[in-house]
Amino acid sequence: MDNYLDDYILNRSYKILLVAQATNNQDGINMAKLHFYFSAMNAGKTTTLLQSSYNYNERGMDTLLFSPAIDDRYAAGTITSRIGLTSTAVAFDEHFNFFAHVANAIQVNRNIRCILVDEAQFLKKAQVKQLSEITTHLHIPVLAYGLRTDFMGEPFEGSKYLLALAEELTEIKTICHCGRKAIMNMRIDANGNAVRDGVQIEIGGNDRYIAVCRMHFLLGEARNITQPKKKMVCEEI
Ligand SMILES: [Zn+2]
Repeated sequence: MDNYLDDYILNRSYKILLVAQATNNQDGINMAKLHFYFSAMNAGKTTTLLQSSYNYNERGMDTLLFSPAIDDRYAAGTITSRIGLTSTAVAFDEHFNFFAHVANAIQVNRNIRCILVDEAQFLKKAQVKQLSEITTHLHIPVLAYGLRTDFMGEPFEGSKYLLALAEELTEIKTICHCGRKAIMNMRIDANGNAVRDGVQIEIGGNDRYIAVCRMHFLLGEARNITQPKKKMVCEEI
């Protein structure tokens, strides 16, 4: 029993010490956190990312942005939102080491105060861990933005571990054609019909994916099926 109490007191003291160390970084500020902003397609994740970066810059603090090399919708080394905002970014692939890159970058620029990662669903498990270590050991907050699930309803590797490891989870919401909250991503073909199989990663914007509620995802209805009938009546008139 004494041993149990000794262990309890020692563990408790150690925990208090760890908490004290964690809450006091070099600037005496609270511990930096890993944030995961998740949503379905076209909810405005990239716009939110660029706005957050702008807010830091406006206050005289520098940011470091990352985007996946596989995203070929826009020029390499840039992040562009659907409403036209754009910024330069470091491209990452599955072998990229975020911790090493950021550790080197802050040696050159001590004013880097926030790390932002676009399309974070494409991160590997080890890379999510690296991002968490940036917050713990380099004391810089990390804001990751990504899709929760793929077009088959399966969680992406990056999102799965961000949901597991991030201190802060925030949902960026958008709606289905029926008005319900959209939480799933439907891949569609050239005719607008749901596609049920294929490779997980096929980059595309509005033209290949539609955010829908779970019910319409299961039904495979990418649009309000009453709309074409109404349109046809108008055209006949
Ligand atoms: Zn719906």
